[in-house]
Amino acid sequence: MKVDYIIVGLGLAGIALAERLEARNKSFVVFDDESQHSSRTAAGAYNPVILKRFTPVWNGPEQIEVALPFYQQLAEKLKVKLDFPVLTKKVFKSIEDQNNWFAASDKPRLQDYLDPKLDQASYEGVIAEFGFGNVRNTGWIDTNVLLDHYRLHLQNSDQVRFETFEYEQLDVKDGILYKDIKAEKIVFCEGYGITKNPYFRHLPLNGTKGEVLIIEAPELDIDFQVKSTIFVLPLGNHRYKVGATFNWADKTSDPTEAGKSELLEKLKKVITVPFNIVNHRAGIRPTVKDRRPLVGIHPDFKNVAIMNGLGTRGVMIAPTVSEQLLDHIDLGTPLDPEIDINRF
Ligand SMILES: Cc1cc2nc3c(=O)[nH]c(=O)nc-3n(C[C@H](O)[C@H](O)[C@H](O)COP(=O)(O)OP(=O)(O)OC[C@H]3O[C@@H](n4cnc5c(N)ncnc54)[C@H](O)[C@@H]3O)c2cc1C
Repeated sequence: MKVDYIIVGLGLAGIALAERLEARNKSFVVFDDESQHSSRTAAGAYNPVILKRFTPVWNGPEQIEVALPFYQQLAEKLKVKLDFPVLTKKVFKSIEDQNNWFAASDKPRLQDYLDPKLDQASYEGVIAEFGFGNVRNTGWIDTNVLLDHYRLHLQNSDQVRFETFEYEQLDVKDGILYKDIKAEKIVFCEGYGITKNPYFRHLPLNGTKGEVLIIEAPELDIDFQVKSTIFVLPLGNHRYKVGATFNWADKTSDPTEAGKSELLEKLKKVITVPFNIVNHRAGIRPTVKDRRPLVGIHPDFKNVAIMNGLGTRGVMIAPTVSEQLLDHIDLGTPLDPEIDINRF
């Protein structure tokens, strides 16, 4: 079999790259073994404001401008709904918190998102002693529907192999040769799975485990995301996604009792109504020391590239950096030094 590209990993990174390749009429085959669960676990939220500090996310508005049309096109192609715009309500903890919000909502890069008015409405079952600040133009992408349908799409066109990519079988000296496949290039998109990759495991991707719950709360009826020390995201039918934990020590993808307890403890400070737990998931976010993606070409092997390090914001970042990586490979367009692996 001969293809232009091999992609290893079919999370948000691999999907974005595959889509960009398809748009450029390049042939490819993808490998995925479901050993990592970050894209499956993600809340899929997009929001260009860091609500802990009321500061802009790195390149946030620019990334969203690329990401939303990207997911819209993908939704049309896969014939599913992927984008769910929802208002985000930041719960204030104090008067000082409110004042910081007013100051931040004046900043040019945040004006489109932070509503300067204090929201003091009360919502049945939600605790907010000091009211809310509303963040506009936010929402979430249903990453599970995306993964399920994209896998099927590739399966139907015979462009995917659901198996572990065995690095020791790869020959990169004269073009790319892997078992029965000859390719021009290979791009690794394995998320935290990079730690097993002999070509790129030297890069400082440390990984941060996160756990989420899906709860059913019959008496809670809100159509906005509540953002406090945790988020409560409405999924419809009185179901809500609740998350997330941040654990830097545990590198497994198994949900834990400790993670669940932490989320329940925090949830009780946000809602007052009864609920059942419907699901509990965990995954490792591919986080990098300097909080920037890991994108670029291997220094010794010009046919070997990487797209990783999407951290806590894969939904927003993947559509932009996939295009940048392919422009770099195809046209030699220099990469933004902030994302280029050459910085290490
Ligand atoms: C709890 C939690 C909440 C999150 N919330 C959000 C959010 O609200 N918004 C947001 O934008 N991001 C969020 N994220 C982050 C987001 O999940 C990541 O940025 C993104 O999913 C990373 O995508 P990826 O494709 O790089 O990695 P992954 O999703 O880890 O995908 C890598 C893929 O490669 C495969 N793979 C690895 N090694 C091999 C191999 N040797 N052979 C074959 N296949 C292999 C894996 O099976 C996997 O499918 C969250 C993450 C977590 C854990």
